[in-house]
Amino acid sequence: MSPPSDLRLLVIGAGIAGLTLAGRLCQQGRPPVLVERAVSADSGGYAIGLYPMGSCVLHGLGAYDELTRRAITLDRYELTSAAGRVLQSFDMAVLTAAAGPLHMVTRADLLGLLEPTCRQAELRRGVTVASLAQAEGSAMVTFDDGSAEEFDAVVGCDGMNSLTRDMVFGPARGFESGWLLWTWWAGGGPFDSNVAREWCGPGSFFGVYPVPGQVMCAAGGPSGAVRGSEVRSLLRRQLAVLCQREPGVAAAIDELDGPHPWAMADRRCRRWFNHRVALCGDSAVAFMPTAGVGASVAMRAAAGLADELSRADAATVPLAFERYERRCRAWAERAQAESRRLGRAMFVRHRATARIRDQIVSRYPAKLALRDIIRSTHEPF
Ligand SMILES: Cc1cc2nc3c(=O)[nH]c(=O)nc-3n(C[C@H](O)[C@H](O)[C@H](O)COP(=O)(O)OP(=O)(O)OC[C@H]3O[C@@H](n4cnc5c(N)ncnc54)[C@H](O)[C@@H]3O)c2cc1C
Repeated sequence: MSPPSDLRLLVIGAGIAGLTLAGRLCQQGRPPVLVERAVSADSGGYAIGLYPMGSCVLHGLGAYDELTRRAITLDRYELTSAAGRVLQSFDMAVLTAAAGPLHMVTRADLLGLLEPTCRQAELRRGVTVASLAQAEGSAMVTFDDGSAEEFDAVVGCDGMNSLTRDMVFGPARGFESGWLLWTWWAGGGPFDSNVAREWCGPGSFFGVYPVPGQVMCAAGGPSGAVRGSEVRSLLRRQLAVLCQREPGVAAAIDELDGPHPWAMADRRCRRWFNHRVALCGDSAVAFMPTAGVGASVAMRAAAGLADELSRADAATVPLAFERYERRCRAWAERAQAESRRLGRAMFVRHRATARIRDQIVSRYPAKLALRDIIRSTHEPF
């Protein structure tokens, strides 16, 4: 049974932003109602690289030590040509010296360490919102189980394909690459346990990202293949030269089973709030995995929103939402622009363009490549 709260707050979506926001609100003694469409906790998912920009929020939630137990620290990021020639080997100390390490963790483990911070919140699984109407001093929500409730504030943390966003702000547009990314898990044996490595070719991409005991493999291309057998033969064909040089890559492709296809696209909502309804995380500004910052941005924005709400009562919620948008939107959109820029370099189809890209990558200093991420860790928000 949750303690009574002076602010009746509904959070839609118990993903990375929703759990972070709910955890911070619980600390303020204002536990929200949290509705999550999925019936059970996410057990699979993918690997997440968590920058200090996001992981620092876990200090305040008392969950940072648990992150260090469940994650590995990434030492290097290597970018190679399609044939396996190393073009860049970024020493992550460039970033970690001042701000703290880049952690690699499974999405399931990250959600698993966030959820206990929301113990006082009322988490309703297998529930979503059927309708949402705003009146002068409240928002009336009906749920798909037929119940209805009045709230002082509603925050949509329901991800890239946010229903809250569609209901309140209308459809959002974004970047569409036309590529799919397939992810799956493989044994970490053949790969360095603290190094992420990406091979970029014309019309193909392959990467390995270590987490404790295994690696997440990610392969991409302008193809609509979704079945495991289809994707496996496509990759064996496209990456034949690489597989000959790097038996670990061939073995990882052999392990591909039921890969999860992700559309390489994002979304940006022009406003982050409308009166008593706000968006946070991917629902406001969604990310492709290209810069590996979406989760960090979601956590930082959720912490910013919780902070603004800590200075609001039921009457001043719209003002807190306005301050939140002013505080967080510009840097989050800058991070998204960076992610799109890296995406454009990755989604190259022609040999000549890929050669130019490889030349640029091989001359790019690590400090410049990580410039915006390093800057954001030093900036107040
Ligand atoms: C393959 C892949 C790799 C990635 N790698 C990285 C990385 O390395 N580093 C990084 O920082 N980011 C990464 N990202 C991006 C990152 O995962 C997202 O930016 C982050 O999850 C956004 O958090 P969120 O809480 O806004 O959305 P989500 O984490 O997607 O959570 C949304 C939640 O809302 C629930 N939901 C959806 N609709 C409803 C509804 N109608 N009602 C109730 N609940 C609903 C969902 O079930 C989910 O639990 C990656 C993404 C992908 C796809």
